[in-house]
Amino acid sequence: MTGEIIDGKSIAATLRERVAAAASALQGRHGVTPGLAVVLVGDDSASQVYVRNKGVATKKAGMRSIEHRLPADTREDDVVALVRALNADDAVDGILVQMPLPDPINAHRVINEIDPAKDVDGLTEVNAGRLLLGKKGLVPCMPQGSVILIKTIEQKLSGLNAVVVGRSILVGKPLALLLQNENCTVTMAHSRTKDLGDVCRSADILCAAVGRAELVKGDWVKEGAIVIDVGINRVGDKLIGDVEFAAAKPRARAITPVPGGVGPMTIACLLKNTVVAAARRRGLADPDI
Ligand code: NAP
Repeated sequence: MTGEIIDGKSIAATLRERVAAAASALQGRHGVTPGLAVVLVGDDSASQVYVRNKGVATKKAGMRSIEHRLPADTREDDVVALVRALNADDAVDGILVQMPLPDPINAHRVINEIDPAKDVDGLTEVNAGRLLLGKKGLVPCMPQGSVILIKTIEQKLSGLNAVVVGRSILVGKPLALLLQNENCTVTMAHSRTKDLGDVCRSADILCAAVGRAELVKGDWVKEGAIVIDVGINRVGDKLIGDVEFAAAKPRARAITPVPGGVGPMTIACLLKNTVVAAARRRGLADPDI
């Protein structure tokens, strides 16, 4: 096995170009410029970088970027009032509330105030329910990006064994559901899973979304598996994934690096969801992205 490296950066760049073309077509044919509103509460330094990057990428794709920065001591009711105002604003097609929200704001309440038609992070109960039911909705970005990466290697996922390590609402669960919707046989592993190595060795598609540096050992990877490493762990001044990359790569058919794998797909899928939301809200067909 050569262990092809899945170049998330370049795949995301291509996706962003396709999104820009779809946004331009919406503008040209229907006079619609998709708008993405990002709400940042507080001064978490990582969140500030994410929000800035999202704004830059949104404008680069020819879309309108709207940013709302609120102080850390903003009352929950005021954040909810802002979300409601954005729901009512026809120029806004997508709303993203940057997580984490400072204490004591109830993130669950704030997220579920977002109009599901504008929920480009796919985190409202309505969109989570649609994904569970296999119905059309807005799909969380990181899991969506992971499946796009897998499909650059293997188009037909039907019947393949997929193992997702991690069962968070944000990452593991939606990724497992997406793979199930692709007719994979999916195993969800977590902190109580017995013999995790053996479970991972059964995977044709192995996805790690744990948040523990190099938890997934190289010899847990089945020969010829596709490995998607969602983990981002800061170790010293380096970013390390959840998979022991150097040992896993020679066994894998293809593997995502960290950084430069799943990460860049997240913003690209956010932009994609915004264009899709802009089209659907106006009763137009989904853009071909
Ligand atoms: P999370 O909410 O902390 O969930 C971690 C999951 O891993 C839980 O389901 C937990 O199991 C499981 N787990 C913990 N220790 C384990 C162990 N020793 N063996 C097996 N499973 C174990 O984290 P998250 O939000 O899903 O994020 C996961 C990783 O993805 C993080 O590194 C995060 O930075 C990264 N991430 C990346 C992106 C991106 O764009 N690339 C986006 C979001 C997150 P239990 O449920 O049993 O506790």
